[in-house]
Amino acid sequence: MYRLDKGRFDEFIRLLGREYRTYAPVRTAGRTGFAIVDSAGMIDTDVLVTDMSPKEIFFPPSETLFRYGRNGIKTDEVPERPIAVWGIRSCDVRSLSMLDRVFGSAVQMPEDDRFKDPYWNHRYGSSLLFGSACIDPSPTCFCNWFGGGPFNKDGMDVFTVDAGEYYLLEPVSGKGQEFIGGLACLAPAGESELDLVSAIAAEAASRMPEEEDLKEAGRKLSDIFDEPVWSELSAKCVNCGACTFCCPTCHCFDIQDESQGSEGRRVRIWDSCMFPIFTREASGHNPRALSKERVRQRIMHKYSYSLENYGEFLCTGCGRCVLVCPVNLDIRDVLRRLLHYRAEGKCNG
Ligand code: SF4
Ligand code: SF4
Repeated sequence: MYRLDKGRFDEFIRLLGREYRTYAPVRTAGRTGFAIVDSAGMIDTDVLVTDMSPKEIFFPPSETLFRYGRNGIKTDEVPERPIAVWGIRSCDVRSLSMLDRVFGSAVQMPEDDRFKDPYWNHRYGSSLLFGSACIDPSPTCFCNWFGGGPFNKDGMDVFTVDAGEYYLLEPVSGKGQEFIGGLACLAPAGESELDLVSAIAAEAASRMPEEEDLKEAGRKLSDIFDEPVWSELSAKCVNCGACTFCCPTCHCFDIQDESQGSEGRRVRIWDSCMFPIFTREASGHNPRALSKERVRQRIMHKYSYSLENYGEFLCTGCGRCVLVCPVNLDIRDVLRRLLHYRAEGKCNG
């Protein structure tokens, strides 16, 4: 483990910027998200869970796949420097691993390269992730339901802890070790600093909520697919889609052509399964015309179908959807009520 005095943080960020396009949490007009930074002063080092998740670094809300015209098809120039992310929380690092199973490694069709997304792989495949320990988890954090935790390092290249006057940096991957190993602005950490990390980790873990038993979640949800509980739970959802856009694991998208004359571009844009027209077919038929069906789809996808398809839940417990929902539809309450529905024989809310 290494120590980085905060007086040298700006030097560190500038060094990182020489090799990487560096993203970090930034506050703009009161909202937080990840943006390119070239100095430490631009970074919001206090924010825990950013309003928008870092998925948009690797899977932008709108991106040009290619341009077309009379002279054929061409793709835009891609930036040469790989991406580094500073200040990404463990739940968000896990969300990128999940998305990589969908876009990057295409685990359902691994032998067929046509299912591996080159746009995603170009960004994520060479990235360097500096994960941040969560010293003070929020009341809406529930990553521990899914095997996560405030000091979980899975998927990171370097694990960092804000220890007040300094940061502690622990290389997790070979790539992380290679970058920070030779930096003059870092010094080896001592015993007292390691003890401090253990104390901070224990304190953070003690603030996490009681875990929900999700062992049978997939089966339990399938068993109540046709029960009226879905109508009751979805009654107050206004289908705004905010929960899906802020979610670090939601990845519905649409492909559209934007043309003018003989020129045009094909664009991939975020979409949401909560929108009524998301599943409307050319015939006009909509297999998920009702709000109940869309809410059910979102829950089933995250806590049942993803287990079958990818072997893990499509939720990290980041709590963003809890914070953003305009009608206070709390996904933790929804999930608890569904999982206990059979045992209780009714819906309590
Ligand atoms: S469903 Fe909600 S809590 Fe789960 S990852 Fe998405 S935004 Fe976070
Ligand atoms: S944020 Fe709330 S109201 Fe909006 S679509 Fe999601 S659950 Fe429904």
